[in-house]
Amino acid sequence: MRPVLSLGFRLYWCDRWPLSLRRLPSVGQALTFVASERHPSEHTMQTAVLFSNVSRHFGEVKAVDAVDIEIGEGEFFAMLGPSGSGKTTCLRLIAGFEQPTSGHIEIFGETAEGVPPYRRNVNTVFQDYALFPHLNVLNNVAYALMLRGVAKNERNKAAEDILEMVRLPGYGDRRPSQLSGGQRQRVALARALINKPKVLLLDEPLGALDLKLREQMQEELKDLQKQLRITFVFVTHDQGEALSMADRVAVFNDGRVMQVGTPEDIYRQPRSRFVADFVGSSNVLPPDIVKRIVGVEKWASLRPEAIRIASEKGTQAQVVSRNFLGGTTRLTLDIDGLRLTALLPSDAALPDEGDTVQLTWHRDDLHVMEDGA
Ligand code: ATP
Repeated sequence: MRPVLSLGFRLYWCDRWPLSLRRLPSVGQALTFVASERHPSEHTMQTAVLFSNVSRHFGEVKAVDAVDIEIGEGEFFAMLGPSGSGKTTCLRLIAGFEQPTSGHIEIFGETAEGVPPYRRNVNTVFQDYALFPHLNVLNNVAYALMLRGVAKNERNKAAEDILEMVRLPGYGDRRPSQLSGGQRQRVALARALINKPKVLLLDEPLGALDLKLREQMQEELKDLQKQLRITFVFVTHDQGEALSMADRVAVFNDGRVMQVGTPEDIYRQPRSRFVADFVGSSNVLPPDIVKRIVGVEKWASLRPEAIRIASEKGTQAQVVSRNFLGGTTRLTLDIDGLRLTALLPSDAALPDEGDTVQLTWHRDDLHVMEDGA
C-alpha cells in the first residue's frame, strides 16, 4: 500500500487502478468509504435531495418560501445568498433539525418529513465546528462510532486513518483548544466523514479562517469531495467561494431561490438584477440605456471585465476615477449619469480621470435580463 494521490488530502490505493478511495487494510468496516471503481458518469445519477415547494415559516418570517431544488448524487452544490436569505434553514431542513411548514422533502427517494436527524444518512459540519472541548481529537472523531458501539481499537484505528486523510496524522492526543482554526476545521470534517454520510452538509465551514487558509481549504475540500463522491451541500455568502467550488449554485434571497445553475451560468447569464448584483460586481444597466444600445427596453448586466476602451466609435463615457489594483486597473465611468465599473489590464494604455472615452464590448457580454427584480 502506498499513497497514490496527493491532492491535499492523502488517499490510498491497494493494488488496482482506478480506485478513488479504498480503505486502509486494517481499518475494517468503519472506513469502507464510497469506493467507486467506475467513473460517476457511468452511474445513472440519482437525486440525493429533493425539495418540492418547501416552505418554513417562523411566525411572520418566511425563512424558506416555496423552494424547489433537486441536488444530484455526488454533486457539490452551493447555497449562496446574503445573511438571512434562508440558506441555513434549508440545510437544517435537510439535516432534520427543522420540519417544513409545507411542501415535501426527499433524501435519496425517501420522504424526509418526520424522520429524525440520526436516521438520515446526512451529517453536518457546523461553522463553529461544535467540537467537544473536553475530548481529545481522536475521541472527538471517533465519537459517533462509540455511540454506535464500535469496539475501541477499531474505532480508534478508523479515527486515526481519517485524521490522516484530512492531514492531521498524530494529532489525536491534542485537545481542540490546542489546535489552530484550520486544524479544528479539519477535525470537524473528519468527525462528520467518519459516519460515511451520503450527504455532507457544510454551513459556512470556512468562514472563521483567514483568506489564505480559506483558499487552501477550498481546494482541499473540493479534492476530497471529488474523491469521496459524497454529495456536498455547502452554504456560503461568499460568491467567490461558491463559484470556485461548486458544480451548481442556488442563489437565495428572502427565502426564495432566485436562480440555480452552474457557476458559469450564474455569472454570465444572471436572470435577475439581484443575481447580477450579488454574484460578482456586475454593472446593471437600466432599460432606457439598454434601449439606446441594443434597441430593447429591458434591464441588462455587463461584467466589468467585458468592457473595453474602443479606438473608434463606441458608447461615449467619462472617466470618473482610476484605481490601480495590481494586474488590473478599475475605472469608474459615467454614461449620462449612470456609473459603470470597468476592469482593464494594468499594462494596457489607460485613460486618465476626466478623459472622454468610447466604450465597447462583445455583443454577447451585454446580457439582457428577463426579470427586472
Ligand atoms: P446567515 O448567512 O446569516 O446564516 P441564512 O441565509 O442562513 O443567514 P437563515 O439562518 O436560514 O438565513 O434565516 C432566514 C430567516 O429566518 C432570518 O430572517 C432568520 O432571522 C429567520 N429565522 C431562522 N431561524 C429562526 C427561528 N428559529 N426562529 C425565528 N426566525 C428564524
